Amino acid sequence: MGLYGGIEAGGTKFVCGIGTGPDDLRAVVRFPTRDPQSTVARAVAFFRGHPQRVHSIGIGAFGPIDPQVGSPTWGHITTTPKLQWTHTPIAAMVTEALGAPVSFDTDVNAAAVAEHRWGAARDTSTFVYLTVGTGIGGGALVHGRRLHGALHPEMGHVPVARAAGDTFAGTCPFHGDCLEGMAAGPAIAARWGQDGSTLAPDHEAWRYEAHYLSLAITGFILALAPERVILGGGVMKQRHLFPMIRQGVRDRLNGYFRVPAIIGAIDSYIVPPALGDDAGILGGIALAQEAVP
Ligand code: ZN
Repeated sequence: MGLYGGIEAGGTKFVCGIGTGPDDLRAVVRFPTRDPQSTVARAVAFFRGHPQRVHSIGIGAFGPIDPQVGSPTWGHITTTPKLQWTHTPIAAMVTEALGAPVSFDTDVNAAAVAEHRWGAARDTSTFVYLTVGTGIGGGALVHGRRLHGALHPEMGHVPVARAAGDTFAGTCPFHGDCLEGMAAGPAIAARWGQDGSTLAPDHEAWRYEAHYLSLAITGFILALAPERVILGGGVMKQRHLFPMIRQGVRDRLNGYFRVPAIIGAIDSYIVPPALGDDAGILGGIALAQEAVP
């Protein structure tokens, strides 16, 4: 079996890996995201330095991106607030440097593909993958296919109703108090003056966090009818959030959307990623496997 390369192109760090799946990740490297030229050059050097060539490379990138195959700007990171990266043709830079075909999508759609192939969504065909970390992003597979349309889902920026008593302005430069502005890691840190990882499980912060995530997830459930919702990212390492969010979703649905998964088995309906911190890089490798016939 041939080898595949994956690039998890995150806004703060890049992860590059070579392998064929979760049991066969042969080499992985992580480094901070700097300007496009030097960062992509470092990724290219990693693949060139490996003794075996890769058939193809999958890139899951921070966005917004253009994922539409056939579009003149396919494979670009487009109008990102990370200004150095605006209109960066990352897929072309990688494929030209390495001479290997590239498959390209958002970091969260890539992670969703990996969870579908090897992880927590193996037995589903329509599901949502949400990451809650330095930002909030959502990807989805619908009938087993990555969801695109006019763009790609931007679930982190849905509007949310404020929690009672929350006067925090929100951190999103576009919307202020959208989901990401109220519930991503930097919002928690700005609201409470300390990093979320240092807050006790009974801190009020988590009530707010569960409020915003439950509201948004309820919306995604009603809009897409997913068979599962996977919640990853650094903030979701606070595992006490899971029961709070499950309860919040049930409360908000209030008996509507009566499916067995929510009525009787919500613990296996709203779940962490089975691939853990490797979901992103395995997403790149899973995309790479789609790039070759
Ligand atoms: Zn926003």
